[in-house]
Amino acid sequence: MGATFAFAESRDGNLRKVAFEAVTAARQAADASGGGEVHALIVGAPGIAARAAELGKYGADAVAVAEDAGLERYSPEVFAATSAERLRTGAYRAGFFAASAQGRDLAPRVAARLGVSLASDVTDFEIQGDAVLARHPAYTGKVIVTLRLVGAPALLSLRPGAVAAVEQPRVARVEAVAPAIAPGAARVVVTEVSQRSAAKLDLGEASVIVSGGRGLRAPENFKLVEDLAAAFGNAAVGATRAVTDDGWRPATDQIGQTGRVVSPNLYVALGISGAVQHLAGMRTAKTIVAINRDKDAPIFKVADYGIVGDLFEILPRLTEEIKKARASQ
Ligand SMILES: Cc1cc2nc3c(=O)[nH]c(=O)nc-3n(C[C@H](O)[C@H](O)[C@H](O)COP(=O)(O)OP(=O)(O)OC[C@H]3O[C@@H](n4cnc5c(N)ncnc54)[C@H](O)[C@@H]3O)c2cc1C
Repeated sequence: MGATFAFAESRDGNLRKVAFEAVTAARQAADASGGGEVHALIVGAPGIAARAAELGKYGADAVAVAEDAGLERYSPEVFAATSAERLRTGAYRAGFFAASAQGRDLAPRVAARLGVSLASDVTDFEIQGDAVLARHPAYTGKVIVTLRLVGAPALLSLRPGAVAAVEQPRVARVEAVAPAIAPGAARVVVTEVSQRSAAKLDLGEASVIVSGGRGLRAPENFKLVEDLAAAFGNAAVGATRAVTDDGWRPATDQIGQTGRVVSPNLYVALGISGAVQHLAGMRTAKTIVAINRDKDAPIFKVADYGIVGDLFEILPRLTEEIKKARASQ
């Protein structure tokens, strides 16, 4: 029985939520093919090995850790060469990555190095005999394409949030490995990472996202969106491109085809029309709530719950109700 591989993404010395999702998916794939081990790989700066055991909680049997002082930031060549080397050394039938900003760069490089198939931005998958079936949205989410990956290893990058991390505790063996390329020899060096302020919950990690659009009318009115996000307690704030282009919110908040692609448990769209480019980034959210004063706004076509009305009247009341509901829990 072949093993299944998962790349565990980290940032600033911690594993990211997508790392647990990749390991969970690998565990599910292994179990669906009659068992077999799950082997994870972490690449990062010294100290990251201390996090390896956390992957055992989600079903990893073994964790290889490549540490180097030159790997504090993502290094495309080193990460790809090290992942490819791990995948080459085992008889892996499938390998899971995150379709995060990093994973979208990394997974195709690994597939190219190995000459194997890759399905990107996967929202669902199943094992069918020797093949892996992977589903992913295409044409800005208008259709769901099912890809049949043959050959081994079949690589998949998972849309963040599409697979919920599930604990399946076991004690993982941890092994130190050397990066396949010395970081100092890399020809491409990431010199800066532009990210949301550390104090803010990352859009890819948030289980609730409250997003605002041009219907908010002015940047200062995003206070209403932030208040609702704070009432939920664990929510991140997102925005449409109309809003980020106008400088009301930072570009890192943009959700959509040319922004972040997210799959939270709950997505609340406030004063957002629901243009196809925006839907491409959020339509796979588990539950979508929309508030818009135009009953014909396209956002209502994808919303599970819709409120037709003025957000300036509804939002303060909704925020109060959420606060009350959470206080009584
Ligand atoms: C190549 C390309 C890529 C793009 N990529 C992206 C992307 O990644 N992400 C993205 O978001 N967009 C993207 N866009 C832009 C997209 O086409 C839309 O223009 C944009 O999403 C609209 O943003 P919006 O919904 O905030 O604004 P609008 O379309 O102006 O909608 C505002 C909504 O607010 C409602 N409203 C107004 N006042 C109130 C009120 N008081 N109470 C309740 N509702 C109210 C209105 O009824 C309306 O539906 C892209 C466009 C192109 C061409």
